[in-house]
Amino acid sequence: MAHINEDMLKLPGGYLFTEIAKKVSSFKESHPQAEVISLGIGDVTQPLAPTIVKAMHSAVDEMSKGGTFRGYGPERGYEFLRHAIAENDFRARGIEIDESEIFVNDGAKSDTGNFQELLGKDVKIGVADPIYPVYVDSNAMGGRTGDLGADGRWSNVVYMPCTAENEFIPELPSQPVDVIYLCYPNNPTGTTLTRDELKRWVAYAIEHNSLIFYDSAYEAYIQSEDVPHSIYEIEGAKQVAVEFRSFSKTAGFTGVRCGYTIVPKEVAATTTKGERIALNPLWSRRQSTKFNGVSYVSQRAAEAIYTAEGHAEIRKTIDYYMRNAKLMRSTMLSLGYEVYGGKDAPYLWVRTPQGITSWGFFNTMLQNAHVVCTPGVGFGPAGEGYVRLTAFGQHESTIKALEKIKTII
Ligand SMILES: *Cc1c(COP(=O)(O)O)cnc(C)c1O
Repeated sequence: MAHINEDMLKLPGGYLFTEIAKKVSSFKESHPQAEVISLGIGDVTQPLAPTIVKAMHSAVDEMSKGGTFRGYGPERGYEFLRHAIAENDFRARGIEIDESEIFVNDGAKSDTGNFQELLGKDVKIGVADPIYPVYVDSNAMGGRTGDLGADGRWSNVVYMPCTAENEFIPELPSQPVDVIYLCYPNNPTGTTLTRDELKRWVAYAIEHNSLIFYDSAYEAYIQSEDVPHSIYEIEGAKQVAVEFRSFSKTAGFTGVRCGYTIVPKEVAATTTKGERIALNPLWSRRQSTKFNGVSYVSQRAAEAIYTAEGHAEIRKTIDYYMRNAKLMRSTMLSLGYEVYGGKDAPYLWVRTPQGITSWGFFNTMLQNAHVVCTPGVGFGPAGEGYVRLTAFGQHESTIKALEKIKTII
């Protein structure tokens, strides 16, 4: 009989959102009259922008005719899209990224999860905590995280806690780490790092020969001037950082599927003998074996984001969500809750009332307000004592949910 990859068996059984769904559906069964509103999902609700839809329609028309039909596309993505990315997301901000450093993908989850395959099994990873669970779980599958303790910590992961006590700014690791995962604006806390704070991380990585895997899926939500949109705004970052971007939250592409990864030519890791191996050609080799590209229609849709009309339309939707975030922030604060995030990100991070756990407060919200939130502890041990609320809902249902939360106290 074939042996299983036992690293897979170390993963916690229930995926967070499956657990939540179970609790919500059992509540609905026992309270059929209750109108339950979710401020828990991390998915967008507003439809695609008209300019994007138009681009998709015309791409479908091209696919329907002999002369313009397209089969497999270039592995790294079509030139038209990589060019638009390099021009608009980077050159417009004074950052030089070559088109050959851009890998178009079917969303950031795949690449943030898969990129660890390029690294040795003995690599030590450090993560800001709490964080998007994909980084730790994918490294667990890769056999790098040791064992999961009863306290929710992996024995071989360096956690860099981000809590109200340190204003959600992770401390540089006190023990050596080879790879640092950062996600800013952060999912789940909705907090950010300023340019000066991010500089410390780049300096650390250069000094310690570490890599930074930087997820900036929410960069489009940044409102503050001193918050960087890309890690490459920091001098020297191209030596040490890989950046993951996604159109999912930027332009409502969670169902369309398109994103990209920047692997600068300079970024490298070493063999056990000390030979430097550049990651860009290695990632290209990996992708050409395991990935066959993103649909032409999705790539044309992504290109349309960068047109003047497309850009204006997606900004409107982002403003719509940020209007929710603002209302949620002010309402929760006025109710006496301790609230973080929500200024440069569509997430609010709310401290649970004293003595109540994340899951405890999840239950209170569900039972008493019929509102679904996400228990913070699901995003890492330092998330205990917080819940996440998302601003991705319809404005009307967000207002309704807030009215119901007012009745809790
Ligand atoms: C939503 C999200 C992504 C994007 O995932 P896609 O696969 O692009 O839809 C990536 N990182 C974080 C932190 C996210 O919250």
